[in-house]
Amino acid sequence: MGDSMQQPIKLKVKSSFVKNFKDGYPLVTEESVQNHQDLKIEGSVFELVDEQQKFISKGYYGKQNKGRGWVLTKNRDVEFNLAFFTGKLKEAITYRESLFQDKNTTAFRVFNGEGDGIGGLIIDYFNDYYVISWYSEGIYSFKDVIVQALNEVVEVKGLYEKKRFASKGTYVEDDDFVSGEQAPSPLIVKENGMNFAVYLNDGAMVGIFLDQRDVRKTIRDSYAEGKTVLNTFSYTGAFSVAAALGGAVKTTSVDLANRSKSKTIEQFSVNDIDFEAQDIIVEDVFNYFKYAVRKKLAFDMVILDPPSFARSKKHTFSAGKDYTDLLVQAIAITEGNGIIVASSNCSTFGMKKFKGFIEKAFKQSGGKYTIVEEFTLPTDFKTISEFKEGDYLKVVFIKKQ
Ligand code: SAH
Repeated sequence: MGDSMQQPIKLKVKSSFVKNFKDGYPLVTEESVQNHQDLKIEGSVFELVDEQQKFISKGYYGKQNKGRGWVLTKNRDVEFNLAFFTGKLKEAITYRESLFQDKNTTAFRVFNGEGDGIGGLIIDYFNDYYVISWYSEGIYSFKDVIVQALNEVVEVKGLYEKKRFASKGTYVEDDDFVSGEQAPSPLIVKENGMNFAVYLNDGAMVGIFLDQRDVRKTIRDSYAEGKTVLNTFSYTGAFSVAAALGGAVKTTSVDLANRSKSKTIEQFSVNDIDFEAQDIIVEDVFNYFKYAVRKKLAFDMVILDPPSFARSKKHTFSAGKDYTDLLVQAIAITEGNGIIVASSNCSTFGMKKFKGFIEKAFKQSGGKYTIVEEFTLPTDFKTISEFKEGDYLKVVFIKKQ
């Protein structure tokens, strides 16, 4: 386990995948190699070889969705030790130097998996505290050396972790605190001057999705002034906060999770926004759309940020299948010249297909539109061209005519 003394397992790449790996594709799947059953202990090191047994690249075994491991180097002599991880982390920190300097932003991603050279490893920064997300038992087996490396490259006030892998069939849910000082609960972080309350020790989600930073700023700075804003799938209401700070006349946040109400009140409060002047509704979005149509409500801005897949009492929503329909319902309650912010983090389709959903929805609704802004992941969510699936975020600002 993370043991460099053992001989790496040789994985024979199927001929149709050899070029892919030689070109730098980092994810190893069962289909891509002939002898995946030789992988037995998570965290063990493998070497990919071609049909002539020639070395291609080297990585570790870790089960993660469809993946069975990640390639970490094309250099056979590299070992996955303290020097290796320290080097990768240093590079990642340097890449984000301007964010570390920015006093108005104290929460961002510092290490983005394969984008920074180590698939399965994510590290986020929250105001001098760090949160490591482990995506497999395999990468978790390197915990000691990775934590040591992190402490060598940055000042860590307190460290938390999220185990995002299933162990013996059950999702690992335990104390997230690892070492250092415990963070205040909530911890207040800043993002372009906005405040957000986050909880580092409260399950998989901390209260804010860091990948939407540029979108929140754009809503606040360029679109919210004087507008009525409907924020659907609102979670802790981060988009509503951005809109209110940008001068929205009123925000309406809709989410079916009970906790979303108190969480949204809290986010407004830490920004000195009177939450009583805002609507915060705990309801299924699809019921809310019907209600809005019945009451002839219309908004200047409608934000759509559904999960890739969700099941409520009455509805199953799958982004790949149902996004067009979601847009049709949003279009019906958006004012003329209003803006729809359509967002999806679903990695099974790209921007092109997403724009296809938009095209189809407007055709169905019989209206015209223009695309006024487009976002993918922010710079701290570093991606590599060899792994397009890593660039999952698509956000389009659509002006309804
Ligand atoms: N837009 C949020 C993140 C959304 S996370 C942000 O910027 O922070 C997805 C949210 O959708 C979750 O909070 C979940 O409770 C909610 N959700 C899922 N299905 C829903 C439905 N049918 N109606 C309302 N909310 C739903």
